[in-house]
Amino acid sequence: MEILDGKALARKIEERVASEVKTLKEQTGRVPGLAVILVGNDPASHAYVGMKKKACDRVGFYSVTHEMPESISQETIEKTIEMMNANPGIDGILIQLPLPPQIDTTKLLELVAPNKDVDGFHPYNVGRLTTGLDGFVPCTPLGVMQLLEEHNIDVKGKNAVVVGASNIVGKPMAALLLNANATVEICHIFTDDLKKHTLDADIILVGAGVINLITEDMVKEGAVIVDIGINRAPDGRLVGDVDYDAVAPKSSYITPVPGGVGPMTIAMLLSNTLKAAQAHAKEA
Ligand code: NAD
Repeated sequence: MEILDGKALARKIEERVASEVKTLKEQTGRVPGLAVILVGNDPASHAYVGMKKKACDRVGFYSVTHEMPESISQETIEKTIEMMNANPGIDGILIQLPLPPQIDTTKLLELVAPNKDVDGFHPYNVGRLTTGLDGFVPCTPLGVMQLLEEHNIDVKGKNAVVVGASNIVGKPMAALLLNANATVEICHIFTDDLKKHTLDADIILVGAGVINLITEDMVKEGAVIVDIGINRAPDGRLVGDVDYDAVAPKSSYITPVPGGVGPMTIAMLLSNTLKAAQAHAKEA
């Protein structure tokens, strides 16, 4: 069994991004700029935005966080997005989800300029991903693909079972695997007999947000296990969706939580924002 070490790969990617930021600055006088919209007081959202901001600082990006109260109106967020769309110093716009119930999230995601959509949530970029065209790909599944590539795990022709079908994790994960010629199944909360599907999988990728959803008896000997889940266990520890201690010995490769997919998500945000900045510099 080998560990898919996302922390180590994320560090390597950060070094590459930092060096490309230097080159961009030398050649054009610009540094990549990321704007984050953060609404309300959810501690997890604040923690994620804090980590993203620190990562931006480490690689030399300019970053700004627009903090807004829980009671904010749709119109005010829309105005902020329009301002960021028009601001030439901003290359990437990120709306930290989830948003409060009075806010129409879909409408906001559609308002972000597709060439600043570094989270890859705009339907334009979703369409490009599905069609196999270049665009912005959601950071978490993109990070998973890079982690697999780093370990020379070729998904072509393999049975890949994705557990979880959200727009930000499961669906783009499945699209990337399909684009890489895996045979893909997507399971979700209404899937009957999850074990029947996972037992057949060469690769299981799970992002459901359910502690111990994947247990040892659901996994084939030698399977690759990618745990995208992040949950707070009753004892306060961060854990994934996989019963790690029991499943790891049976797997060929496995991601730990923390230190697997999480750091890769942030690394991909940096890499997407750099990509946006490089494209904008060319257009200027
Ligand atoms: P979500 O709630 O939007 O979607 C969860 C998905 O899992 C749904 O499709 C649902 O049908 C499915 N699901 C739920 N319970 C299930 C069950 N018992 N059996 C089968 N399928 C089930 O959540 P999300 O935003 O996609 O996040 C999923 C998990 O991934 C969460 O733990 C979240 O914290 C984590 N996450 C991690 C990262 C990272 O960087 N590692 C990034 C985003 C989300």
